Amino acid sequence: MSFLAPLPFRGGAGGGGAQPVPSMAPTPTPPLKGRGFSLCMVLALLSACAPSPQTVTPPPANPPAGMQYLYGSGEAAALSVQAFAMLASHATATAKARPAQSVVLASGASLDQPRFVPCGDKPLAAVFDVDETVLLNIGYEYHDARSGKSYDEAAWDAWERTGAGAVSPVPGAVAALAQLRAAGVTVVFNTNRSAANAAATAQAISAAGLGQAVHGQTLFLKGDDAMGSGKDGRRATIAGRYCVIALGGDQLGDFSDLFNAGQPVAARRAATTTPSIAALWGRGWFVLPNPVYGSGLKGGFDDVFPMDRRWALPTDGEKN
Ligand SMILES: [Mg+2]
Repeated sequence: MSFLAPLPFRGGAGGGGAQPVPSMAPTPTPPLKGRGFSLCMVLALLSACAPSPQTVTPPPANPPAGMQYLYGSGEAAALSVQAFAMLASHATATAKARPAQSVVLASGASLDQPRFVPCGDKPLAAVFDVDETVLLNIGYEYHDARSGKSYDEAAWDAWERTGAGAVSPVPGAVAALAQLRAAGVTVVFNTNRSAANAAATAQAISAAGLGQAVHGQTLFLKGDDAMGSGKDGRRATIAGRYCVIALGGDQLGDFSDLFNAGQPVAARRAATTTPSIAALWGRGWFVLPNPVYGSGLKGGFDDVFPMDRRWALPTDGEKN
């Protein structure tokens, strides 16, 4: 990654107007004469004719706060271990009880009136997103933070294909997935990584110590159906084959695409705490922290701070 990218021309309304461009025409110089010609003169001439050095944008001194938290902090590690411990405990207990219904919403269900796919005698499974759910994309996020660029589709595709050596498991994931498999629960991955990179993604999952993933059997990817990054179609396919007793993810779309139906930020948040949905968190649906990217990172002041919960520093007359 280079930090030598040229700055855009500072023109237009935001750039303070067009700046004069320094002339690149060489300054007339006296002819070189035998003994008076020196190396210093050559260097001086080369310097005078060379293009102006491009401004170098240094990498940030530290990663963004969200990356410090997710990839560096003990707090995030503890939160993840906590989520996986709850998930494994819940799933192993549920496996013994043999539930009548899965935790995958049935077609036509709503968040207000959830209904779930019945289990029948299907084998048990737990379904996980991959990125920032069971696997930390340490290498890519390092690249992202150092370059200062926003998400780049081509760079991400290259990362999917070549990044297996620079991933880590999410804390708690390796032990939890092993516990599930030992209890007879099949571990299935449902990720928006590309189907074209299926083999490399299976390799990354294995490299992180998360076990085997077989495309079309225990690994489902974007491109497997015509629903793009929506996961409900793949979830329905999985729930048609398995009794899904746990879902794990770092985005609400890892549980239902209904959360991503375009509702305002506050309504989306409220949907997670309505009684019928609130009952699922920690009891079938398990969330991992991700303050780095994703559908949770949006909203203006009016979305995030309700009008009746605002405070300002008191003026002198209001201090008592
Ligand atoms: Mg994810």
